[in-house]
Amino acid sequence: MQVNTDTLIACQLCDTLVNIPQISSGEKAICPCCQSVLYVPKKHSLERTQAISLAGLLLLLPATQLPLMGIYAAGKYHQTSLLECITLLTNNGFYLIAFCVLIFTIVVPAVRLFTAFYLTYCLQRNINKPFLMVFFRSYHLLDNWAMIHVFFLGVIVSLYKLVDIADVAIGAGIASLVMLLMCSTMLSVCIDYRYLWTELERSHE
Ligand SMILES: [Zn+2]
Repeated sequence: MQVNTDTLIACQLCDTLVNIPQISSGEKAICPCCQSVLYVPKKHSLERTQAISLAGLLLLLPATQLPLMGIYAAGKYHQTSLLECITLLTNNGFYLIAFCVLIFTIVVPAVRLFTAFYLTYCLQRNINKPFLMVFFRSYHLLDNWAMIHVFFLGVIVSLYKLVDIADVAIGAGIASLVMLLMCSTMLSVCIDYRYLWTELERSHE
């Protein structure tokens, strides 16, 4: 008997292979053995993913350029942005930390956002590019390596510690960083891997 493997999905709880029919918005696929939810199509996934990734890309500039915090010390006011943090780390010989901050808080999130935006843009307009699969795989790979939230946690801890020993002011960069963090989280919620994969396969047929 010929089995259509394109529509097969494995239940994450009981490993049953289920042949899923076409599911429209508002419906969900249930495992016939353990009744767990196999797949729920996300509403307006393409449009939402595209809008959020574009907003994230626009926020990258203020989040990296605007000052994150300022400190009053010895009659002077010092403030620093994310890019200046990396430069300071490099100047003080902390090359590995500077490299990690640059890669995991700027480069990876930027590539991830751009990949999501480009993928959804091409699919929405039926632009068939041969390397879209590579973009999709790259997004999947980078999804776990965007660590803005770890950097943001570090900033919050620094603020908490510094507030006792110096006059600390929160910069506009923090607001941009928070919004960028929200875009990054919302992107993970809105993106529909199964739908994207099906659309990509269909466009390559
Ligand atoms: Zn099951």
